[in-house]
Amino acid sequence: MANLCRICGVELKHTFVDLGISPLANSYLKAEDLTRMEPHYPLCVYVCDACYLVQLPVFESPEAIFGDYAYFSSYSESWLKHAKTYTEEIVERFGYGGNSQVIEIASNDGYLLQYFKEKGIPVLGIEPAKNVAKAADEAGIPTRIDFFGRRMAQELAREGKYADLLIGNNVLAHVPTLNDFVEGMKIILKSHGVITMEFPHLMRLIEENQFDTIYHEHFSYFSFTTVEKVFAMHGLKLFDVEELPTHGGSLRIYARHIDDDSKRVSKRVLDLKDREETAGLTRLEFYLSFGERVKETKRNILGFLLNAKREGKSIVGYGAPAKGNTLLNYCGMRTDFIEYTVDRSPHKQGQYLPGTHIPIYHPDKIKETKPNYLVILPWNLKEEIMEQMAHIREWGGRFVVLIPAPRICS
Ligand SMILES: [Zn+2]
Repeated sequence: MANLCRICGVELKHTFVDLGISPLANSYLKAEDLTRMEPHYPLCVYVCDACYLVQLPVFESPEAIFGDYAYFSSYSESWLKHAKTYTEEIVERFGYGGNSQVIEIASNDGYLLQYFKEKGIPVLGIEPAKNVAKAADEAGIPTRIDFFGRRMAQELAREGKYADLLIGNNVLAHVPTLNDFVEGMKIILKSHGVITMEFPHLMRLIEENQFDTIYHEHFSYFSFTTVEKVFAMHGLKLFDVEELPTHGGSLRIYARHIDDDSKRVSKRVLDLKDREETAGLTRLEFYLSFGERVKETKRNILGFLLNAKREGKSIVGYGAPAKGNTLLNYCGMRTDFIEYTVDRSPHKQGQYLPGTHIPIYHPDKIKETKPNYLVILPWNLKEEIMEQMAHIREWGGRFVVLIPAPRICS
């Protein structure tokens, strides 16, 4: 069966990058699972030659991936700060108050909506993962347990629930039916309402070789130009954009109804479109060259680790992020290269990484074993981790990152 583009429906004929086969990146294993068969799925990413959406076919239903369980966003301090700053800025800019309605799609445990609630602004969360949605509800953030799309939007519209501000952060990549989702947003947006969404920027992924951010839970990878196209197809206009440092480089887009002239299109929109065009994001050949770069990176990483092992170095990992699992599985690095990894999350300690079966310990393990190299898997948190783990220098330990290319950090 042909794979069809989830925006424009044309057949996908071009491979962006083929990362082999991999288990779902968040399916960490318990000791008793290690001898069982583990489902693996192709991790072959396509690019559409009509709209340039970079995308993975969906192998598992979103219900299976996101339905029961999600990590609690409130656990991360830097993420909370990001949410608070956003709230201050957007309330100031558009003047929301007690008569406004804020709706957030994929609201997790209410970590963002709590800041609007503190200001007396009515909020509503929509979240499919039951455990976090329940926690939000208990904390006083009204939350519907559901997947957002046209059907749900029509339900909300029937109840008279329309949004002055509609938020969706790090959700667009997870949506299997994009047109249905964007149409739903159009339905519940008030005539002068604003949509803001954040998602990792494809331009940064390509320029900085962040192929490890590709995994099965991320169905789509967006440039500004492509997002603008899908929004326009549903009568929505992007009128502003910001570039954020989160997730290795994200965009925050601002959208409104196409006929709402109260908000002018900013210069930042035109500048970014120019830069994307100059970089090559509106030409198919640009996308087709990425796969070869990724293969070369794999050879460099394996060369680096082979040399280190031959020199007798001990190598361990820091972090157990989803992106680490793509990298380790694609490169075939198991405990033969990386003896173990550590993670501060108690949910992950004592478990094993999917596919590679590398054990996850408490960070104290590093003091005990005094490794020569500490490979930082969540490279976007490199500075923070190097500060936290500065004591490895006492025994001559060095920090290593593998993306965009393998290197020892000074
Ligand atoms: Zn397309």
